Amino acid sequence: MKYIFVTGGVVSSLGKGLTAAALGTLLENRGLKVALQKFDPYLNVDPGTMSPYQHGEVYVLDDGAETDLDLGHYERFTNCKLSRLNNLTSGQVYQTVLNNEREGKYLGKTVQVIPHVTNEIQNRIQVLGEYTKADVIITEIGGTTGDIEGLPFLEAIREFALEVGPQNALFLHVTYVPFIKAAGELKTKPTQQSVAKLREIGIAPNILVCRCERPLDKELRQKISLFCNVPYEAVIEEKDVDHSIYEVPLMLQRERVDELVCRQLHLDTPQPNMAHWQEIIRKIIAPQHRVRIGVVGKYVELQDAYKSVYEAIIHGGVANDCGVEIEKLDAEDIERDGAEKHLKSVAGVLVPGGFGERGIEGKIMAARYARENGVPYLGLCLGMQIATIEFARNVLKLAHAHSTEFAPDTPHPVIAMLDEQTRVTRKGGTMRLGAQPCQLTVGTRTARLYGAFVVKERHRHRYEFNNAYREQFAQAEFVFSGLTPDSKLVEIIELPKHPFYIASQFHPEFQSKPHQPHPLFTGFIAAAHARSHAKPL
Ligand code: GLN
Repeated sequence: MKYIFVTGGVVSSLGKGLTAAALGTLLENRGLKVALQKFDPYLNVDPGTMSPYQHGEVYVLDDGAETDLDLGHYERFTNCKLSRLNNLTSGQVYQTVLNNEREGKYLGKTVQVIPHVTNEIQNRIQVLGEYTKADVIITEIGGTTGDIEGLPFLEAIREFALEVGPQNALFLHVTYVPFIKAAGELKTKPTQQSVAKLREIGIAPNILVCRCERPLDKELRQKISLFCNVPYEAVIEEKDVDHSIYEVPLMLQRERVDELVCRQLHLDTPQPNMAHWQEIIRKIIAPQHRVRIGVVGKYVELQDAYKSVYEAIIHGGVANDCGVEIEKLDAEDIERDGAEKHLKSVAGVLVPGGFGERGIEGKIMAARYARENGVPYLGLCLGMQIATIEFARNVLKLAHAHSTEFAPDTPHPVIAMLDEQTRVTRKGGTMRLGAQPCQLTVGTRTARLYGAFVVKERHRHRYEFNNAYREQFAQAEFVFSGLTPDSKLVEIIELPKHPFYIASQFHPEFQSKPHQPHPLFTGFIAAAHARSHAKPL
């Protein structure tokens, strides 16, 4: 088994996760079985309790693990299946170590960062190897070199690499080479210092991936090579991509990173065949059609809060050879100005998941506008609850209908807390989480889109459609197109007379990939395109 450790230097948000994922794409296309994992140095047990302002999206896996959004990149860029083994936080490490200590497992020893914490970290690399039987394990260390809290992880991978030997492990360091306008130059000093920091703790990177806005010329590469003690051909340029993050694998391939990795790790594999990936990029860069989609949320100013939703929309575009312009609309603006002003120029409306009351009325107005004007609507989790509340108020005339999450005393609690949730008091990891089966109703648009009877989709919520209202909704042609196999929970709804009005209690966006666009997103973009009458370019 071979191991690649990805670290990051100089600044955060360099796209380390993307780089790791893109390397995964290339290695997979060389016929290797790849597993990707992320180590996060923060003390939260998982990101599930963090605000989107702190952390961006919480990415949910099949097994219900609430994880870092980089795991979303891993799943989108490769075919590897992830579980809670693939994301480890300091919080989890300390939780395990402290539990072991209380159980007397350390036999009277003083419990220390080295070796007890570091062993626990190394153990996770090993367990993932045993579990996945991968040829290559790519482990990304979150944070930036120099962070105090990252040190145990770096020490752990240093020891690990020493143990397995240099032909079995390599260090890839993602660094930043800034362009200083006043000097008109790219500067290498921050990279030198970040590599020096790594070498101080005994890690000598084998490959340096240099993130930059301008091309790295030969001279700069030589300088970085010399000062950082990395071979010239292992100084890699990773410029900002022009159009799409899906260009990153091709960019790394042009720089021969996969070749370099395989040579160093003695992996005898053919050149990757990236033809299908090139076709995906072609459809993103030069699509036959174009369409504009409005996403109505409350964290629209944050790039990462709805990451998987934005990506899944793009995948739906790829499936339709349709470029998608995403208009990020603040639900509170809609609340203030009315829906018409913000939605008249979009061909589809999407309301993503969310928690808390802020912006709810704006989302309800957006759902109403879409329903009444025949604008394609896709609701995800909270987006389904919003569709339900809107329908109750404006079609069934149930005044003040609401979700008990936002109005505990509403006269018409059309959305109410799941039974299993009523006794829950702890916050972390206690929602209805992970992949669960959903039975589709024969003859519905949803079933036609999926082309299946039973599907498995990922959840993260506490509230649900209130079954006391099912009959009343059904009579008004509000169709339940997906239910749990025991029929107890509503999972998908649709309005059959509308050109496209579908909403799900789960999060389909977590299972969409550029090479396997999710059927609900494919259908949504097709309907939006049909509405916008976009002419071929
Ligand atoms: N707040 C809603 C619930 O808990 C929706 C959650 C979500 O959109 N992920 O049910």
